[in-house]
Amino acid sequence: MARVVVTGGAGFLGSHLCETLLDRGDEVLAVDNLVTGDVGNIEHLFARPGFTFVDHDVSTFIWVPGPVDVVLHFASPASPVDYLEMPIQTLKVGSLGTHNSLGLAKAKGARFMLASTSEVYGDPQVHPQPETYWGHVNPVGPRGVYDEAKRFAEAMTMAYHRYHGLDVRLLRIFNTYGPRMRAQDGRVVSNFLVQALQGKPLTIYGDGSQSRSFCYVDDEVRGILALLDGDVVGPVNIGNPDEFTVRELAELVLEVTGSESEVVHEPLPVDDPGQRQPDITLARTALGWQPRVALREGLERTAAWFRRTLG
Ligand code: NAD
Ligand code: UDP
Repeated sequence: MARVVVTGGAGFLGSHLCETLLDRGDEVLAVDNLVTGDVGNIEHLFARPGFTFVDHDVSTFIWVPGPVDVVLHFASPASPVDYLEMPIQTLKVGSLGTHNSLGLAKAKGARFMLASTSEVYGDPQVHPQPETYWGHVNPVGPRGVYDEAKRFAEAMTMAYHRYHGLDVRLLRIFNTYGPRMRAQDGRVVSNFLVQALQGKPLTIYGDGSQSRSFCYVDDEVRGILALLDGDVVGPVNIGNPDEFTVRELAELVLEVTGSESEVVHEPLPVDDPGQRQPDITLARTALGWQPRVALREGLERTAAWFRRTLG
């Protein structure tokens, strides 16, 4: 049993992680300032022994009394809509928040994991993307606030590893979806599902030929824990390599929901990556991990959840 601090623990991914850690007997301290998270994601955990929630901005000094075995740094706006609305907070949580979380791990002698992202590859010119690819990021474009914050966070994590000997894990997450995404989160899977269920038009940005590879949250959490518990520093891509165009995703969402919504086109956001697919050879060979849930099944489960929560 470990005592684990999860920054961003009230968010979509963080709340699933907190729950899975509690299920396996760990003690969990979720630290979150609720900018994009929701207490509703974790309120079912409040009654469980070993769970604590602290409302705190991790871009300011973090102190946790008592021993800590693991720090999972997941705090950061993650949806393009969110980080474009909060550019400075996003840069701060990726830089100062990562520094504070690393400082906490160092002070406690804890293992540290950074939730990094496929966005470090930017609009990739290598396809699929292996961890050895250095990326193609526009630092001064609007997405730069997220991409460069995460790239800085990776560099800072490796500096703590090399200079202080901190035990670290570098995780690169690719588009993950599932229950507890906010209906208004702005990401494509939640947008399309909510639009389809409400009979509103599905908003495809651009011509919909851009691709993404979508990972169901249960698979992602299993991959995260395999990386955490293993002895590979990383970076390691954790994502589902099945690639779909946004147009294909829209068609599948309409099929799964039985919706008759029309499809409309809106402008493509600046610097929107044209293609994205993880090379997961490293995760497969070094961690013995691979995803199990196909997109159709994951969309069915997520649609069922949105049906319940949207009433
Ligand atoms: P989310 O927005 O649901 O969760 C992020 C959480 O961090 C929220 O609860 C938010 O309130 C909290 N947070 C933000 N700034 C904070 C601060 N300064 N102090 C304390 N808490 C703060 O997003 P998510 O999809 O769950 O993403 C979680 C992490 O995984 C993020 O670091 C994100 O960059 C990374 N990631 C996610 C995906 C994905 O597809 N979901 C892909 C790549 C990387
Ligand atoms: N997208 C879309 N319609 C939407 C939301 C997003 O066509 O309502 C597109 C977006 O332009 C991008 C892809 O879907 O090409 C994935 O967007 P998302 O915001 O989910 O994540 P990203 O991978 O861009 O961070």
